[in-house]
Amino acid sequence: MDCLFCKIIAGEIPAEIILEREQLIAFKDISPKAPTHILVIPRKHIATINDLDASDTNLVGKMVQTAKTIAHACNLADDGYRLVFNVNKFGGQVVFHIHLHLLGGRTLNWPPG
Ligand code: AMP
Ligand code: ZN
Repeated sequence: MDCLFCKIIAGEIPAEIILEREQLIAFKDISPKAPTHILVIPRKHIATINDLDASDTNLVGKMVQTAKTIAHACNLADDGYRLVFNVNKFGGQVVFHIHLHLLGGRTLNWPPG
């Protein structure tokens, strides 16, 4: 399967990996949109949030828990941060392997552009 994030998981493409777990990994975004910009992804290939099924509920929960843990470790918790899943064209998704963006270290505008 020609998936960029599956290749990062397989070690075929380098990434600044900051955490590895049985079911997921986290690494620095190559083009950070905030002082801290980390992606949390499942090892399982799931193209978009639209493709989740009921058996993925625990996995997505672990992704959010992991993002929370990283946010604490990066000292973002008190000031705040943002967790984002982009979905398909209108959501701005360009990599079709689900990933949770963790953005922090500056004030983030709302609504997003
Ligand atoms: P999205 O627009 O939600 O699909 O986000 C994809 C993200 O992946 C973007 O923020 C990119 O900067 C990031 N990205 C693309 N290629 C890489 C890579 N090789 N390593 C790390 N992050 C990447
Ligand atoms: Zn993939």
